[in-house]
Amino acid sequence: MIDLRSDTLTQPTEKMRAAMVEAEVGDDGRTDADGFGEDPTVRKLEAMASQLTEKEAALFCNSGTMANYVNLMVYCNRGDQVLLSRKSHLFRSEKAPFMEELFGFVPVFYEEDDYGIPDVHSIKQKIDSEDIKVICLENTHNYYGGTCIPVDVIQRISVLANTKGIPIFVDGARIFNAAISLNVTLEELCKPVHSLTFCLSKGLGAPVGSVICGDLEFIKTARGVRKLLGGNMRQSGILAVAGIEALKDYEERLREDHRKTRILVESLKLNQFVTVDKRAVQTNIINMDFSKSRKRAVQVEKDLFKRGLRIKAVGEHVIRLTVYADIHEEQILKAAEILNGYIAECGFE
Ligand SMILES: *Cc1c(COP(=O)(O)O)cnc(C)c1O
Repeated sequence: MIDLRSDTLTQPTEKMRAAMVEAEVGDDGRTDADGFGEDPTVRKLEAMASQLTEKEAALFCNSGTMANYVNLMVYCNRGDQVLLSRKSHLFRSEKAPFMEELFGFVPVFYEEDDYGIPDVHSIKQKIDSEDIKVICLENTHNYYGGTCIPVDVIQRISVLANTKGIPIFVDGARIFNAAISLNVTLEELCKPVHSLTFCLSKGLGAPVGSVICGDLEFIKTARGVRKLLGGNMRQSGILAVAGIEALKDYEERLREDHRKTRILVESLKLNQFVTVDKRAVQTNIINMDFSKSRKRAVQVEKDLFKRGLRIKAVGEHVIRLTVYADIHEEQILKAAEILNGYIAECGFE
């Protein structure tokens, strides 16, 4: 079985496992006089993250979802308006922030193009007419197929936001993929925004965890919110050390994912019934559109499963293929073969 459902399927490397055995740990739920947790390895990861993003401080969280919640809760109170993408992970998958009975924030949406790039003019309109507390961006944009928001767009949004004093938050679960694809440094992507989160557990391959980066004051407040949400961990250096390993050679790691994704998409024999917008294939994700055939994505999922390929239905007629470390080139070619056989059949309906 070839499993392309998600890059969360990556197995921790031998190096990570070895480092986990050796990790020096402490109680991260307790803070010292400066407000930092007492686990030295978590502190090391946080220092590495803040250095990479050039933010003053960082906070290790158990998941991207938790990290996103913490951010929104620092920025907003019940009833506050959050400006974000209609197709963002925050809105579509996480939900709790916008459930009346949970956090009770109010979503306001900006317009975006076919690649999930926010329309700057529509952001201006919204922040001029509504009382927006935070602007959320997703980079790369998961549901658009891993597309990247370029630095100049983020800068233009930042100029607008600054005139109103509105912070920008980036859900950067796969921001490393974005930096590589856009050929910019992580720092360039992070400079115009107030805070961000990134996942260690996606393509980076660590078993658990996400990191929030922002200024000192923000991270201090975030630490309190994390505790409030039950997110304090104890000897979490055991987990953080895998993240440290992941960050050591992430560039080579993710470049390889992007290269294999290219091979996969270029090996596909698409037709008028099954299409891929190749311009949207910028990182490690491929969205295939079956809307011109009569196939529903959940049906495609079942059919391909029987042929030895697992994928994820992400829309009514759209499936997602994700490439990650444990998928080798032979498997990429085999996956293409399975898909091509299936696509050819779809054409004859
Ligand atoms: C995976 C993901 C998250 C959530 O991360 P978890 O660690 O699975 O909770 C948030 N945002 C985006 C864009 C993601 O892809």
